[in-house]
This record gives sequence, C-alpha cells and structure tokens, in this order.
Amino acid sequence: MEYRRLGSAGLKVSALSLGSWVTYGPQVNVDSAAASIKAAYDAGVNFFDNAEAYAKGASEEIMGLALKKLGIRRESYMVSTKFFWGLNEGPNERNTLNRKYLMQAIDGSLKRLGLEYVDLAFCHRPDPDTPVEEVVWAMSDMVTSGKALYWGTSEWSAEQIREAWEIADRRDLRKPQMEQPQYNLLHRGKVERDFARLYDGIGLGLTTWSPLASGLLSGKYSKGIPAGSRLSLPGYEWLKDRIYKPDAIAAVESLEPLARSIGATLPQFAIAWCVRNRRVSTVITGASRSEQVVENLKALDFVPALTEELLAKVDKILLPVMETVAD
Ligand code: NDP
Repeated sequence: MEYRRLGSAGLKVSALSLGSWVTYGPQVNVDSAAASIKAAYDAGVNFFDNAEAYAKGASEEIMGLALKKLGIRRESYMVSTKFFWGLNEGPNERNTLNRKYLMQAIDGSLKRLGLEYVDLAFCHRPDPDTPVEEVVWAMSDMVTSGKALYWGTSEWSAEQIREAWEIADRRDLRKPQMEQPQYNLLHRGKVERDFARLYDGIGLGLTTWSPLASGLLSGKYSKGIPAGSRLSLPGYEWLKDRIYKPDAIAAVESLEPLARSIGATLPQFAIAWCVRNRRVSTVITGASRSEQVVENLKALDFVPALTEELLAKVDKILLPVMETVAD
C-alpha cells in the first residue's frame, strides 16, 4: 500500500480507502462489512469513510459493529463521518450546518459508530442559510473537543473552501484540511481545474469519491442492469436516471481493450486512473462484496502503466461523454 499525506497535514492515508455509501444497510450486513473491511485492512487500507445520512444512520452502526468484531487497534485506522442532511425533521435538524445541529450530530455519530472520536469530520454539503463563520467555529470546536481530529468539506466550491480557510486563519481556529469531491474518468473538473490553487495555496487534501461512477466505469452495465447491482436497487431510481446513459456505457465498453492492454480489468483501470493524480490523497472505493475489494485494491499495480500515450487514447474515447453522467 502507498500512503499519502492529507494535503499539508501530517496524517497519512492509504492511497485507496473504502466507503459505505449505498452498500452498508441495503446490500451489506455486519458480517459482510467485516469481510470487506478485513480484506482492505489486511492490504494496508487505513481509512473507512462514512456519513450520518448513509442508510439513515444504519451505515455507521454496521461499520462500528464490524470494526468491533474485527478487533483491530483503533490507533491503526481512520474513520470519517459527514453532516448536513440530518436524520430528523425540523428546521435545525435537516439540511443545515448550524452550530446546534453540528454539535448534536457528532455525538449521535459517535454513539452509532461506538467510537470515542472520528478522525475526519466533513460538512457534507455547503449550507446557504448558515454563515460560513458559524460553520467554521462549530467545526473548529468539534476538533478542539477531541470528538474529531480533522475537519473538511464535501462538494463545496473552491471559493467556499477558501472563505472557510481564511476565516479560520484570521480567527485562529482549526482550518478545513480536506475536501471530498467526486473524481473519476468522467468527472474531473473540480479536482483538475477548480481546486488547482488550493493545493499549494492552503494545503488542501482530497478524499475523492465514486472512482467507478457508481459502477458504470466497471463496464458491468454494458449488457443491461444486472440483478443486485447498485442501479437495480429499489430507492435508487434517481441514481439510475443520472448514470444509466447509453452513450457513456458504450464509451466505457470501448475502454476495455485499453485496460486489457496493460493486464488490468476495467475497474482496476478506472481506479488506477484516479490514483495517478498526486493531488488525490486517497481514492475512496466502494464495494458490495469483499471480492470487489480484492480486485479493486490491485489497481495500484497498474498506475505506472498509465502512459501519456495511453491516457490520450482514453481521453479521445471519453471526451464526448464527459460530465454527462451523475453529478
Ligand atoms: P464507486 O463509484 O467505485 O462504486 C462502487 C460500486 O461499484 C460498488 O458498491 C459496486 O456496486 C460496484 N463495484 C465496485 N467494484 C466493482 C468491481 N470490481 N466490479 C464490478 N462492480 C464493482 O464508489 P462509490 O460510489 O461507492 O463511492 C465510494 C465512497 O465514496 C462511498 O462509499 C462513500 O464513502 C463516498 N461517497 C461520498 C460522497 C459525498 O458526497 N461525499 C458521495 C458518494 C460516495 P454493485 O456491486 O452494487 O453494483
């Protein structure tokens, strides 16, 4: 496993990590979560991503029980959670980053995870109704309290991240350390363009999500929607509407010979492409079973084989369909 610093922080995260969105709860119980976490941990993965809203809190409970079952040392791994959407109705409990919500939400997450602290706490989306200063103050207090070690953002704009960082800098508060954007062969803009000045400028680290665009880049959808796959799940029709685009599926199919030319499977090829970007601290992978974890972690072996010539061929195939699927 390769370990990378989380931006300017001293914290080192495995270049590949594992998340629980969609999977824990609807597809994965405690036993299968433990099997996936073990496969990842044994291969050197030290970061497991979660969020309060995933499966309405059940994802945190499952991950907490799986980690407990495995009995691995708390000091040796990192867990995250994220706040914004909330678990209850009410003006101060849904779609907010106000101080009251954040201060209560961290306690709920720690209880569900069965942990004394999370390593990374994210503001899952920006909140237009709460002043950024209030958010920064609350997240800084969360870190100072020891309930989270680092805080960051997810799907914030470059301007919003810089504003938060500057407020923290001026007021001597804990600064946002990392952002969690979508980044994959079909979604590149934020990571490669929008955030360009933030990496050296404020030492921003990245924990990127959906390296396979919810499975699209694995090629599994080229012959329809397989039973049990993410796009077949009840309740995820909205995701299917965003992802299941014939042009993109055909383009992904055309990538397969390129992946094969370096001995990789399509999932390995797509994940290796994300890891190749040194601005990315960790690529958060997703898996509905441990066999996928094992396959996906081998992606690291193929990073050196991604030559400029090969990447130019990839871009030629994907350019017409880029940014046309899920946002
Ligand atoms: P991917 O885009 O990699 O999709 C993962 C899914 O693809 C798996 O659950 C599985 O679904 C399928 N898959 C994975 N590996 C293979 C394989 N080798 N062969 C075939 N199919 C495969 O990642 P996610 O979308 O899950 O995102 C990763 C993590 O990022 C999440 O778990 C979460 O922690 C985080 N995230 C954060 C967001 C944010 O807003 N901050 C948003 C979304 C994700 P199946 O088998 O069911 O088809």
